[in-house]
Amino acid sequence: AALALTACGRSDTGSSSGSSSGAAETFPKGSSIGVALPQKTSENWVLAEKLFNDGLTSAGFKPDVQFANGGVSEQQNQISAMVTKGDKVIIVGAIDGAQLGTQLKQAKDAGATVIAYDRLLLNTSNVDYYVAYDNFKVGVLQGQALLDGLKSKKPNGPYNIELFAGSPDDANAKVFFDGAMSILQPKIDDGTLKVLSGQKSFEQAVTQGWKPENAQKRMDALISGSYSNANLDGVLSPNDTLARAILTSVKSAGKPIPIVTGQDSEVESVKSIMAGEQYSTINKDTSKLVAQAITMVQDLQSGKQVEINDSKSYNNGVKTVPAYLLPPVIVTLANVKTAYVNDPVLGPLTK
Ligand code: BGC
Repeated sequence: AALALTACGRSDTGSSSGSSSGAAETFPKGSSIGVALPQKTSENWVLAEKLFNDGLTSAGFKPDVQFANGGVSEQQNQISAMVTKGDKVIIVGAIDGAQLGTQLKQAKDAGATVIAYDRLLLNTSNVDYYVAYDNFKVGVLQGQALLDGLKSKKPNGPYNIELFAGSPDDANAKVFFDGAMSILQPKIDDGTLKVLSGQKSFEQAVTQGWKPENAQKRMDALISGSYSNANLDGVLSPNDTLARAILTSVKSAGKPIPIVTGQDSEVESVKSIMAGEQYSTINKDTSKLVAQAITMVQDLQSGKQVEINDSKSYNNGVKTVPAYLLPPVIVTLANVKTAYVNDPVLGPLTK
């Protein structure tokens, strides 16, 4: 969701020389904190940059926030540089969560704490915490929204749908897809939903790099391959950027607009929902996620126990990473006017 420039992290109530609970500082206030962000594939990442810079600064730290627009090796180099610089906590939104093992080991060897942000870090023991919106739940909400939307148009199936997933290097993509399929697969099995292209697996549904042009091309091909004489009733889209690309494809093929899901509450998609085009999005307020990550940094700094609320869901192949998961919220035309009341950009837009 949109920018909230205030209230990142808990406000600073203690002195810098230790908290009243007697916990010992583990590193000085004012230390440099690394934040390695991926590519600007959706608005939430762009918002995160500013929120981390502002929030870490007002919490008394030195932010070291980097984007890796050039790809995985750039992100590897950025994390190594954060280690060399002596960053005490390194927060990582990975491009490819399985390709950072060497750099995360360097970070741990240097005594830094590693927090996976939004996307899990895979196949490494060198990650301490995970902070994210509940990704499986995001997928469940998307699958349920797709079904609800289809039923709102005509009460009984069968319905023709197509399935899109995110980028396979992003650990979230499979989790979103699995969450959605936990709802959709039983309906495919009982014949309520039909995927005329036959492309039902995650591998067939992926969108490399989360790039809208890849989703648009695939939708074009699916339409010409399977829908010249059939209706397309719905499309599972993992996020808003891809949802709009899918809608562009459908419109340029002259087809009626299907039920299309999304995620991220991007401005253009919220407008599209209000205009009756995109069916749903997910509200994952970026300011809350950044605030939670900064709260973790503050607890680490003051030597307090870091708060987690999930210790079983996110196994990364080597360990189950202690997580703090925030709840995602589904948004459709039905609740768009109330969903964003506290959002500085979307609030006024949806009034
Ligand atoms: C995030 C989504 C976002 C996607 C593409 C995912 O890891 O969780 O919110 O849409 O990346 O940037």
